[in-house]
Amino acid sequence: MTFDTVVMVDWSGGNDTGAAPTKDAIWAAVARDGQTAEPMYFRNRMVFEEWIDNLLKVEAQDSRRTLVGFDFAFAYPIGFAEHLTGSDDPLAVWDWFEERVKDTPDANNRCDIANDLNAQFGETGPFWGLPNDADYPHLTAKKSDRTQQPFPEFRRVEQQARGTFSAWQLFYNGAVGSQIIMGLPVLSRLRKSHAVSVWPFQKLDNPIVFAEIWPSLFADDIAATTPENGIKDAHQMSYLARKFSQMPAAELATLMDMPPDSEGWILGVPPVAKPLANDCFALPAGTHWTPVDETLDLLNSRLASVTEVETITIADAVGRILTRDVTARRSNPPAANAAVDGYGFDRGALGPDTVTLALVDGRSAAGVPYDDAVPAGSAIRILTGAKLPDGVDTVVLQEDVTLTADSVSFSTGLKPGANARRAGEDVAEGDVILPKGRKLTAADIALLSITGVSEVQVHRRLRVAILSTGDELVEAGTTPKDGQINDANRPMLRAVLNAWGYDVVDLGRQPDDADALERAFDQGAEQADAILTSGGASAGDEDHVSALLTQKAAMTTWRIAVKPGRPLALAMWNETPVVGLPGNPVAALVCTLIFAKPSLAKLAGGAWAMPQGFDVPAAFSKSKKAGRREYLRARIRNGQVEVFGSEGSGRVFGLSWAEGLVELGDHAHSVAAGDLVRYIPYESFGL
Ligand code: AMP
Ligand code: MG
Repeated sequence: MTFDTVVMVDWSGGNDTGAAPTKDAIWAAVARDGQTAEPMYFRNRMVFEEWIDNLLKVEAQDSRRTLVGFDFAFAYPIGFAEHLTGSDDPLAVWDWFEERVKDTPDANNRCDIANDLNAQFGETGPFWGLPNDADYPHLTAKKSDRTQQPFPEFRRVEQQARGTFSAWQLFYNGAVGSQIIMGLPVLSRLRKSHAVSVWPFQKLDNPIVFAEIWPSLFADDIAATTPENGIKDAHQMSYLARKFSQMPAAELATLMDMPPDSEGWILGVPPVAKPLANDCFALPAGTHWTPVDETLDLLNSRLASVTEVETITIADAVGRILTRDVTARRSNPPAANAAVDGYGFDRGALGPDTVTLALVDGRSAAGVPYDDAVPAGSAIRILTGAKLPDGVDTVVLQEDVTLTADSVSFSTGLKPGANARRAGEDVAEGDVILPKGRKLTAADIALLSITGVSEVQVHRRLRVAILSTGDELVEAGTTPKDGQINDANRPMLRAVLNAWGYDVVDLGRQPDDADALERAFDQGAEQADAILTSGGASAGDEDHVSALLTQKAAMTTWRIAVKPGRPLALAMWNETPVVGLPGNPVAALVCTLIFAKPSLAKLAGGAWAMPQGFDVPAAFSKSKKAGRREYLRARIRNGQVEVFGSEGSGRVFGLSWAEGLVELGDHAHSVAAGDLVRYIPYESFGL
């Protein structure tokens, strides 16, 4: 992402009526191609609006892509837009203020508007702060005197950019509330009279982009570079204009690459993933047994990436997930070169008879090119991977020639361009080589390296917590007492998660006890991005997990038409998704492979993907009823797929005997030996 012109604006809610420039008015700086002009001073919003209106016209005429930054919030904390306009579209709030704000160099009605808005909530509302001695019955001088505040004090981005002032505060040092009320109408008008996209509310497909900025993000650099006696507000706009104008395209793209966010965002604050909605697993009441495909579609539509991004070297990148498309920095091959060891020449030398060419002195080897041109009618010794010198576009294999001290001969039949690789025939510079969401393989690392990409931006590794419940369970390696068994699911889940490249947080075995479980879930939500539990998730007397999650974590029981597997319990514990797997190890593994695998991949920032299966002749016969999908423990022997003798879901031996699963579709099935059935090897599940 690049902009030809970058304009940075230090906004103001006040007006300057004095003689000399003061800090209390508007300052702007324009940078073109990294060069900043002097900061400009605008006495009031009217003169500024006229100026920028004209500037945007000129930039558009000259087809210059333009970024304009304003240092005030483009949106209010969540809920206000909906209250004000009935929609969560922040641009509707812009319209709302545009219609109502009256602004002249001498007076404006911002306090009346805030006062009236507050009145909608009772004695006071979210806005606070009063001009000296003013009489606004619904505005208080002190924040603590507010009686009503139905909205969050800060936006999500402000949790990342600590030190920002709240949009609700209208007065006193540092306050920004008045600037927002006086700024949004101006932006609203500009947006309508120019081709503007507002980041991050809209797709950036217009030549002009408006973005919110916050100079304090760069406070240290700005302080260090402000000239003595300079006005900081003026200097910081020059600084920011230069900074965003000079920023490498990829870096700017990273900062701007985020899904639309109705609370807005500050350019320069790295986008962080949004927490999942609390009702993310809700289902319509009284639903049927949900088919597997419908379950998967629902999970896909509700889950999203929850991890931050980081930039790492490709040496560490295998198994990590790309946050954006990667393009080749260099072509492969960068220059035309020889595909074999032999002799290179120009195709013009080829004819109907045996060809004899004079050999030039010297050779071209990989990494040691021949710098001169090879004259027509001559040939040069050339080795695999060596750059083709000027005058060479065809290579004859060394095994096919007759050599003398100073010539090379070969018979006819060679095609023009034979045994030569064209520059960029594999990958051209600028091609997209790997897509966003790709989990990098060893082969991808080779591709990145050869195309000149040494660092990639990837998602932080997903952290998944695991928890076993059941009073009958004891740790692996401990001898169970009467009525006890060793915990099989936790070690299994740990192994599965390790194979998928996730970090595991072990929440241990927890007794069927609400307090202990609650502590474990708190720890899981604190330390992990998702929690996998097994056992206790049905509606039985001892199913404490489901009781607790229902009470405290908006749990929904998803009744999925699948065997093995019982209902899957899905919940959100402190914004962290919880997947309650069945206790039976067979069902627990099948549900993990079929449902948890794509879900976790999505949370990790990856693409939603189904495992690759193969149609293989059955070595068994079976009939099944319609209405649910079945997974059988299976393996291939002698080109046929055989299934484990028992379908009992407590039969862990069969799980281990198997090397994959046979998937029988939702419809009624009658499989006879020799029929093709879908076999999915464990490897396809990444195991
Ligand atoms: P539950 O879902 O808690 O009703 O458990 C169903 C069955 O799975 C019971 O026979 C449990 O003993 C068994 N089970 C539950 N958790 C585990 C575990 N972590 N390892 C092995 N078996 C388990
Ligand atoms: Mg249990």
